[in-house]
Amino acid sequence: MSEAGYQPFEVKRVPELSGAPPHRYRVAIIGAGPIGLAAAIDLAQHDIPVVLLSDNNAVSTGSRAICWAKRTLDILDRLGVGERMVAKGVTWQTGRLFHGHDEVFNFDLLPDDGHKMPAFINLQQYHVEHFLVERAKEFPDLIDLRFSNRVVSHEADDSGVRLTIDTDDGAYEITADYVLACDGAGSPTRKRMGLSFEGQSFEERFLIADIEMHEDPFPEAGRPERWFWFKPPFHEGQSALLHKQPDNIYRIDLQLGPDADPELEKQPDRVIPRIRQVVGDKPFKLDWVSVYRFRCARLKQFVHGRLLFVGDSAHVVSPFGARGGNGGIHDVDNLCWKLAAILKGTAEPSLLQSYEEERGHGADENIRHSAGATRFMSPVSDTERTYRDEVLDLAADLPFARSLINSGRLSTPCALTGMSLQTTGEESTDSTDFKAASSVGCVAPDLPINSEQWLLPLLGCAFVVLVVDAQTPADLETLQGVSVVSIKASEDATNRYGKGVFLIRPDQHIAARWPADHADVQSISRAMKQALGAGQGLAA
Ligand SMILES: Cc1cc2nc3c(=O)[nH]c(=O)nc-3n(C[C@H](O)[C@H](O)[C@H](O)COP(=O)(O)OP(=O)(O)OC[C@H]3O[C@@H](n4cnc5c(N)ncnc54)[C@H](O)[C@@H]3O)c2cc1C
Repeated sequence: MSEAGYQPFEVKRVPELSGAPPHRYRVAIIGAGPIGLAAAIDLAQHDIPVVLLSDNNAVSTGSRAICWAKRTLDILDRLGVGERMVAKGVTWQTGRLFHGHDEVFNFDLLPDDGHKMPAFINLQQYHVEHFLVERAKEFPDLIDLRFSNRVVSHEADDSGVRLTIDTDDGAYEITADYVLACDGAGSPTRKRMGLSFEGQSFEERFLIADIEMHEDPFPEAGRPERWFWFKPPFHEGQSALLHKQPDNIYRIDLQLGPDADPELEKQPDRVIPRIRQVVGDKPFKLDWVSVYRFRCARLKQFVHGRLLFVGDSAHVVSPFGARGGNGGIHDVDNLCWKLAAILKGTAEPSLLQSYEEERGHGADENIRHSAGATRFMSPVSDTERTYRDEVLDLAADLPFARSLINSGRLSTPCALTGMSLQTTGEESTDSTDFKAASSVGCVAPDLPINSEQWLLPLLGCAFVVLVVDAQTPADLETLQGVSVVSIKASEDATNRYGKGVFLIRPDQHIAARWPADHADVQSISRAMKQALGAGQGLAA
């Protein structure tokens, strides 16, 4: 880890312990991991003040998230750290899959150009947290970031949530209108509430080693790639993964089997020979070594009155598919505009049920993919093992079998098609002028506007009526809280949108679309009300 990662953050005495009068907070966030930090910034960008409570004063340590997907980068770009992450991160888009000695297939995650953000970058979680902390500090009037402030208990009722917080200077209490529990996979909030975390645990153990190595293991590729092996010649019968990170750090995952002794396997005299088998005689030094077991599980409900679970506190997955941190950032994107609308009085609290609906769907999708990959790597029954081995054997010659190989289906945004906030049917007439990529419920595809500007940053985090190669409907200025972006025909616009009028939500999902001659201010207004939770069973 770079030295910046270990720098402790300044711990300040809080006003409550310095005689300040009691203050009621709009939003308190428990936990300053990537998800709590992103939520604080998103809410601040909506002008909602937050107090962000962290039980420690440093970024996370160890081998944690490294892969950040395009949609997550788009969201983090909206939050002000995307460009910095891409500049520091290792951009990659090609993955190669090997079975034994042989390459079975490779894939390109973003075959078309014309997107601001790349398909994937690899960047250590501690760098991401560091960038988010620095960004959060750019909102001194809106984000009250309190390090070494541990939440030890809470009481919630219909009017708010009271937290008790421990510090080195003593304990104090605060009350907030809403509390976001972003306190991680072991969420003390979830445990205090006795909520069950339902899902599947995997017995298999994995060695995850980050090593510093200056010689390139991908010289023939010419650029970094993701290499995954089933039954590699250097690691008998198991699976292995190799990935590059910034600062010449490489992540190596080695499957060890269910009976591996985690303490023994972490010892350098066990780890170094294993790594030698992967990288040969290239010199390296160990940066971090862990042995993990994974589970895929989620809370049944994310919304508990005024207390909301976000990120790993709400759902966990195995890392194959990179859906944990990515999924949590998608939660933030989905939740914060809704919470801001409620706190500003433009939506009813019942809008939060759509967070439950939409992100519950996202969590299920992430769990399905991650659990599928984990079972493919470590079959639990003879039938699963036979199926896996047959697929791998057939994949060398038969293309259909390649699509059945699962070494982790990498994080993509989930479509919200058919859910409560989206307008479909007669109100949102379909047309052959439209393209599937911009269907109702999908994330608005990015495209270049000119040599310096991209569409997604132009959309920002408010409702937008996007007019593509069409006449802007009359009287849109009478709609409150919506801006209009009009773009001309271009190859990318035609291929990704077609032509027509699109209502984009603040999280950049498409809420409704109309052919140009069907869009009018009344139908757009009705779609906006629906996107803010009016009707569709979300009434207060
Ligand atoms: C080996 C490994 C590899 C991974 N790889 C990827 C990947 O490539 N891509 C990906 O997207 N995800 C990956 N993940 C998952 C990713 O690390 C998590 O999803 C992510 O950390 C979740 O962020 P979070 O903010 O919800 O929780 P955390 O990062 O756990 O943060 C929670 C924070 O809450 C604080 N806290 C806890 N209790 C309290 C309290 N009482 N009071 C105040 N603060 C409190 C904690 O100290 C911590 O700072 C990986 C995970 C592992 C283990």
